[in-house]
Amino acid sequence: DDRAIAMTICLLDDQLISQIAAGEVVERPASIVKELMENSLDAGAGWINVDIEHGGLRRILVADDGRGIDRDELPLAVARHATSKIDSLDALEAVASLGFRGEALASIASVAQLTLTSRALEADRAYAVTPGEQQLQNDTIRPAALDRGTRVEVRELFARIPARRKFLRAPATEFSHIRKAFNQLALSRFDIGFVLRHDGTEVSRLAPADDLDAMQTRVEKLIGGAFGDHAVAVDEQAAGMRLSGWIATPGFSRGQADRQYSYVNHRPIRDKVFNHGVRLAYRDLLHNQRHPAYVLYLDVDPRQVDVNAHPAKAEVRFRESRLVHDFVFRSVGRALAAVEAKPHAAREV
Ligand code: ADP
Ligand code: MG
Repeated sequence: DDRAIAMTICLLDDQLISQIAAGEVVERPASIVKELMENSLDAGAGWINVDIEHGGLRRILVADDGRGIDRDELPLAVARHATSKIDSLDALEAVASLGFRGEALASIASVAQLTLTSRALEADRAYAVTPGEQQLQNDTIRPAALDRGTRVEVRELFARIPARRKFLRAPATEFSHIRKAFNQLALSRFDIGFVLRHDGTEVSRLAPADDLDAMQTRVEKLIGGAFGDHAVAVDEQAAGMRLSGWIATPGFSRGQADRQYSYVNHRPIRDKVFNHGVRLAYRDLLHNQRHPAYVLYLDVDPRQVDVNAHPAKAEVRFRESRLVHDFVFRSVGRALAAVEAKPHAAREV
């Protein structure tokens, strides 16, 4: 039988384990941008700068002004299964940070050339590491120039893995995915400033938004197409849950589901239960092929949601999914009903 491959069982080496794991975490340049921006958010950054070259195929750079990493912890930061965010199953069940798997930097470093430069808050200077094929030695930590925070540079994505590289698309396509990931995170935290550059051109600059007006300006900027003119605010609370944000009136719907942003405890998610709840509220107002636009934030007790359901952390599991579904459905339905009753509350196209 030529389908049977005779081999003895052996343990995979660390590099290969990382490359296999990277297949789940690093799908394309946008996944790297997402992981790095999440780390910046977790580090308490006030500003995050994302600088992209050639759709991320040539270079991805994410810099922040967060708390930084101690010199001695730099090798750990790029090691697999090393995280400062959880230390027990109990902590995982209540996790509030975006990261917790301790896998992103190691995965990225296994499929690209990564340089991590950081200056810890109290440190008198910055240090850098560039993990290579071998285990990091202590003496590979070198002094570097950086005023504050952390800077991660990623080059040569999939250079050593042609099978993966050939799945990458044209730079413009890859950049559109990056932009989507950037927008998604920029809408997750209004108190933080974000800058996105592509090939030297500033694509997006978002100052921290501290009032509702500034928040709505950011939403309009990122969603575009006069979303603001059609947006209806949502803010409902029940059974320890809160749903807030904006939904667009049915007239602003699209043939594509590309203007839908949903968050659970500030974490961007895609979730069938959540989406279905929203869709159902629009049921009598939208044709089947049309998709509503919305930016919605669900806040629940962290223990009510399992965030460890997906390697890229894009999916979650609700312990009481029926409850969440019905709450989302009713809240969106109420907001829509209020507009129907007052037609000039939002302008129709
Ligand atoms: P995780 O985010 O799941 O912990 P990562 O591989 O993404 O795993 O990061 C590993 C560790 O490196 C983090 O737990 C954190 O301590 C540190 N780290 C990574 N990026 C940053 C950053 N931008 N600022 C400060 N610390 C960081
Ligand atoms: Mg992380």
